[in-house]
Amino acid sequence: MAPAGTTESPLRVAIVGSGPAGFYTAEHLLKQEDVAIEVDMFDRLPTPFGLVRAGVAPDHPKIKSVIRVYEKTAAREGFRFFGNVEVRPSPSGGRPDTGSRKPNQLTFDDLREHYHAVICAYGSATDRSLGIDGEDLPGSHAATEFVAWYNAHPDFADREFDLATPRVVVIGNGNVAADVARMLALTRSELEETDTADHAIDALAESGVEEIVVLGRRGPAQAAFTNPEVRELGEMVDADIVIDQAEVELDDLSREFVDSGDAGPTNTRNVEIFAGFAEREPEGKRRRIVLRFLASPVEIRGAGKVESIVIGRNELQRDEIGAVRAVDTGDREEIETGLVLRSIGYKGEGIEGLPFDERAGVIPNERGRVTDPDTGEQMLGAYAVGWIKRGPSGVIGTNKKDALETVSALLEDVAEGRVFEPRGDATADAAEKMVAEKAPDAVTFKGWQAIDEAEVGRGEPLGRPRVKFSKVEEMLEAAKAGAKT
Ligand code: FAD
Ligand code: NAP
Repeated sequence: MAPAGTTESPLRVAIVGSGPAGFYTAEHLLKQEDVAIEVDMFDRLPTPFGLVRAGVAPDHPKIKSVIRVYEKTAAREGFRFFGNVEVRPSPSGGRPDTGSRKPNQLTFDDLREHYHAVICAYGSATDRSLGIDGEDLPGSHAATEFVAWYNAHPDFADREFDLATPRVVVIGNGNVAADVARMLALTRSELEETDTADHAIDALAESGVEEIVVLGRRGPAQAAFTNPEVRELGEMVDADIVIDQAEVELDDLSREFVDSGDAGPTNTRNVEIFAGFAEREPEGKRRRIVLRFLASPVEIRGAGKVESIVIGRNELQRDEIGAVRAVDTGDREEIETGLVLRSIGYKGEGIEGLPFDERAGVIPNERGRVTDPDTGEQMLGAYAVGWIKRGPSGVIGTNKKDALETVSALLEDVAEGRVFEPRGDATADAAEKMVAEKAPDAVTFKGWQAIDEAEVGRGEPLGRPRVKFSKVEEMLEAAKAGAKT
């Protein structure tokens, strides 16, 4: 038999996940000229593009235009998409409840039947926890849930958030926290220009929220926000930005961090922007975004639901390896709130049949090659890319370089004959037959294009980019209707 990678026997690759990492990987693979490669991409949702569709804030439409690049990849010969097909997670995974929805499932072992390589690009779907009392009270939610809810992710469409509360507390100083704070402060007319889920537009526009408090456990010089995201918080149509002067005064450690240049341009500029905010007088807008630093949540309180949060005041110290850490001073403050959104980072989960590093929330790997954590040996034909490879950090573009690293490792393996031999027939037809048997509702890329067209069509009369479906059944119906035309 011809070796895998030739025109007679193309290298068959399954990519699990259709976010940026999955698409950049497919692009790097399909543009190879010396190796014949076919790619089948699977996603648990009928819709592709991962967090570009279900994470990126709806008021940032330009960022979503990266989808045009992914569409070009999808149009390449040798590419197929099977949406609404989940690769079965590990039982211990911690994936949010999908309610009555039972996605079609394949296992990693099923993929081993028909593919020379399986590349995991399935991102980080769950959240990190704070580990404090009251974290699980109703009214305390992970930002992952809130973000997925306003973006019409079907597993989260029926979540409810107490938006009648006058004060929301957002925990974390990363760009997701900034997104969440902004979304809570947008006006109806701003929301109505976006593809925010219909159910969220009304809830957010009519909310009783007057104050959004954003808590950073370290100081202004250590915040993880990037500059444009901070600036935007000061440019809201109907929300004032509020920072107390005392909050932006740097302690000695942070002053040295900034003055020595160790802070880098982003953190240094952030400090300047925060200082500018602190000098502003509130204009009496409908809502206020209040930034607090050196403040950690220590307990969430309430009888049956969130009523308040206890904040511990921190000071900064260097630890034994020189990192700047927040250390509890013991000072406490309790503030009333009915809604706490914990935005302290996403977390990955394992899939059945592959090793998983529970602590780091990633698939153990070396340059994308999945490795056995006990022996360090490569697991032939298994690769990882994107957030599930390196953890939940980095912007969309970061995944392009990351995908190149994984693809280079795979191509090196192919060149050196380290190719997994599928247990069954390694052909596109055999794989399609398996999908038809095990995942009869799978959505092809043509099916997705029909969903896309229907959503855009719903948006047109309203002057909106699209009106998203938030139920899988609606998506499947649109995909089927499109297939008939
Ligand atoms: P993802 O984008 O998460 O894609 C993973 C895909 O795998 C999803 O489609 C998922 O449905 C699928 N999947 C999961 N489990 C399975 C399974 N078991 N079987 C099959 N499929 C599965 N970056 C920017 O540059 N600009 C921004 O404005 C920006 N905004 C962001 C907003 C939020 C809220 C978040 C969380 C991140 C944002 N980022 C932004 C970062 C960017 O989205 C990530 O870098 C990128 O999406 C990571 O890509 P990925 O492909 O690894 O994962
Ligand atoms: P992130 O950037 O890693 O920020 C996480 C934040 O949570 C940090 O401020 C961190 O503080 C804080 N935190 C962690 N543990 C905590 C705890 N126990 N108590 C209190 N605070 C805690 O993560 P993210 O915001 O989820 O963003 C993920 C990635 O997506 C980032 O790379 C981000 O840039 C990207 N993204 C980009 C955009 C954009 O470009 N517009 C939008 C959204 C997301 P410490 O620093 O002290 O650990």
